[in-house]
Amino acid sequence: MERVESIAESGAVGDPDGLQRLWVPHRMVYVSDHTQPERHDCPFCEAPRRSDEDALIVHRGRTAYVLLNLFPYNNGHLLVCPYRHIGGYDEATPEEVAEIGELTQRAMRVVRGAMGCDGFNIGMNQGAVAGAGVAAHLHQHIVPRWQSDANFFPIIAKTKAMPQLLGEVRELLATAWADPPDDDGGAEATN
Ligand SMILES: [Zn+2]
Repeated sequence: MERVESIAESGAVGDPDGLQRLWVPHRMVYVSDHTQPERHDCPFCEAPRRSDEDALIVHRGRTAYVLLNLFPYNNGHLLVCPYRHIGGYDEATPEEVAEIGELTQRAMRVVRGAMGCDGFNIGMNQGAVAGAGVAAHLHQHIVPRWQSDANFFPIIAKTKAMPQLLGEVRELLATAWADPPDDDGGAEATN
C-alpha cells in the first residue's frame, strides 16, 4: 500500500478514478527511474524474440501479439501489443488498430471461457502522465474481474498472491486460444 499511496500523493495520477489507479503499480514496477525504454531495451519489443513460454506469450498475430502481464493486477491479466515500437494509439496503422481490436475481443472470449470471470477492465494508458509503465510502446490491458475481487482491489494490486503461477496461466490461455469457444466466429481466419 505504501507504494500506491505515494504515487497517488505525487499528483502524477490525476483524478483518482478506478481505472487510473488500477494501472499504477504496473508503471512503478517496469520503470522505476522514470525513463522510457528505447527499442533496444523495450520489454515489448524484446518479448517476441523469446519463446512463448519465456515471454509469457499467449498468441502471436500478424501485427500484434498477446502476452501475460508479468506484474498482473489480477489472475489472467493480458496485454495486447503491436510489434512496432510506437507509443501512441493514434500512431497505429489501420491494420494494427483492427488487429488490436480483434485480439482484445478474442482475449475476452478466451479468458471468460477458460477462467470464468464476471467482467473486465480494458484500456490503454497513453503517456507516463496517464499511468503507462512503458509509455513508449503501446499496450492494451485486459484485466479479468471477478465479483469477489472488487472490494480488495487496492490491496491486491500490490500484494495479492495469485492463485495460479504465470506459466500455468499462460499454458491454460494459449491452449484455450487455440481451441476457441463456439462464439468465436470468423476470428479463426487470423490464425
Ligand atoms: Zn518497444
